Amino acid sequence: MLSIEGLTVRYRKGTPPALHELSLSVAAGERVALVGPSGSGKTTLFRAISGFVPVEAGRIVIAGTDITRARGRHLRAMRRGIGVIAQQHDLVDRMRVYQNVMAGALGRWSTPRALRFLFVPSRAEMEEARSALQRVGVAEKLRSRTSELSGGQQQRVAIARTLVQQPVVMLADEPIASLDPDLAQHILSLLCQLAGETRTALLCSLHQHEQAERHFDRIVRLQDGTIVARGDADAPLATVSQVPSACSA
Ligand code: ADP
Repeated sequence: MLSIEGLTVRYRKGTPPALHELSLSVAAGERVALVGPSGSGKTTLFRAISGFVPVEAGRIVIAGTDITRARGRHLRAMRRGIGVIAQQHDLVDRMRVYQNVMAGALGRWSTPRALRFLFVPSRAEMEEARSALQRVGVAEKLRSRTSELSGGQQQRVAIARTLVQQPVVMLADEPIASLDPDLAQHILSLLCQLAGETRTALLCSLHQHEQAERHFDRIVRLQDGTIVARGDADAPLATVSQVPSACSA
């Protein structure tokens, strides 16, 4: 579903690349954890996939479409297929929960419909928001003010918004960084379960290796912009030189 080949990204000419000839693929429904120290390139990889930083070399293919150099309308259309869950949730605090959830549908709605929804949501739209919230366990918060929710509830709402978006690829950049350990387990488990159920390719960056082992199918370790180890989450990671060339992680 997501295939990256030989990706090189450099922020400024004459400086070392933030990503160097990185190759990685994630199948539909597969959950891959990206681990590595600060500065190893995890966020840059997400930015490159979302089209926010230019690619110097290599290819990014999503659902069979090469999106490496997409621009304008093509880039916007391609972003609809990518769900993003940020470290600090990026909901609009002053909006109601259902409005934030249905923001996931904006990519498939016309501007008049989106505006109408803000003021007079239809029964079907409210039902879609409620159903997404139910899947993440906070259906009772449908009409609450977003600012009144706890950090964990807000992260659930962000996941519900991604469900409404129906992406083919989900990128989660340290989604549990601001949560306490128990809640972090719940959110990771929910994210991985939903990715499996909806057949979405999930790429999630994490600080702690134990969490990657517990919840994910595969782990990829980044350092200095390259993959230094990879493997199944339930086995010791193989350094890249030990990986047979036929194995695409
Ligand atoms: P991580 O997410 O693993 O902490 P990043 O992707 O943020 O790593 O950073 C990878 C490298 O790119 C680091 O050397 C960092 O300093 C550099 N970098 C990140 N963002 C920028 C930027 N906007 N401009 C220049 N260099 C950047």
